[in-house]
Amino acid sequence: MEYEKLRSMPKVELHCHLDGSLSQTFISRELGREVDLTELQVAYGCRSLKEYLEKFDLPIRCLQTEKSVREAGYDFIRSVAAENMKYVEVRFAPLFSAHEGFSTEQVIEALLTGLEDGRKDFGTESNVIVCAMRHQPEEENLAMFKAARTFLGEGVCCGDLAGDEAAWPMKNFVRLFGEAKKLGLPFVIHAGECGSAENIREAVECGARRIGHGIAMKGHPEIIRLVKDTGTGVEMCPISNLQTKAVNGPEEYPMREFLDQGLLVTVNTDNRTVSNTTVSRELLFIQKTYGIHDEEVRRMMENAVEVSFADDSVKDRILREIRLWK
Ligand SMILES: [Zn+2]
Repeated sequence: MEYEKLRSMPKVELHCHLDGSLSQTFISRELGREVDLTELQVAYGCRSLKEYLEKFDLPIRCLQTEKSVREAGYDFIRSVAAENMKYVEVRFAPLFSAHEGFSTEQVIEALLTGLEDGRKDFGTESNVIVCAMRHQPEEENLAMFKAARTFLGEGVCCGDLAGDEAAWPMKNFVRLFGEAKKLGLPFVIHAGECGSAENIREAVECGARRIGHGIAMKGHPEIIRLVKDTGTGVEMCPISNLQTKAVNGPEEYPMREFLDQGLLVTVNTDNRTVSNTTVSRELLFIQKTYGIHDEEVRRMMENAVEVSFADDSVKDRILREIRLWK
């Protein structure tokens, strides 16, 4: 499909970080100076996930007050609506914004208000995924999950685990997600972005409904089978994965492979601003690079609806729009 056609297609996105997707205009306004794109986007020669994660320092500084978090939510919905996003699950780490005088509950509430303001003006529906961070102490992550739990079904849809996967493997978090399960908070987990297929197995065995990236299961048929048999969604983020060197080069990226193996593959941006991308650009890229057919693009959008946390009525409406879209 041509770019314009992809842009106008009804879309759903499940893996997108708020801080990495704030617009240049919003960040400039918040910081009170004209921010250069090179300060926000990862350079072409980005060497690692660690280097990639350094790009989040500036946007996180723009998420420290009730007003800025609320306006960030609005800014985000405006950006995604521009490519006909029908429903989006936006993730963020409330602990990066919470401090004395701005509680975790208030942080989450501020974002939900901004997203709802955005929905009224631009029409895109959303849910929030709250990210526990790998480098943060377990008790803080658990306290955040408990705070987020009070918003479950009221704008928050699930928890997540994000951050430097190589330094903090999945086995350190089995207890945290056991607690999440007791709280009745569903979760997705970043796993297999950084080489470890074992992290994917453990995430699925822990009960993750979807895995973020999942690249490392390439070449591990038993883990691929586990992901498939459990109906676990796979949130692929092609451009980001190439930038963070999750694979050595585009030829090693398992897009075609995962699709052909019948996994519930979805296509996502990870970070619109940091990676300088949109879902439309991701789709254009995979069609050109991996020969993904138009019907497969449609199927991946349907997969996204299926493995999303949207209400059934929202799912039905979007599925109909995708099927009728020509
Ligand atoms: Zn991510």
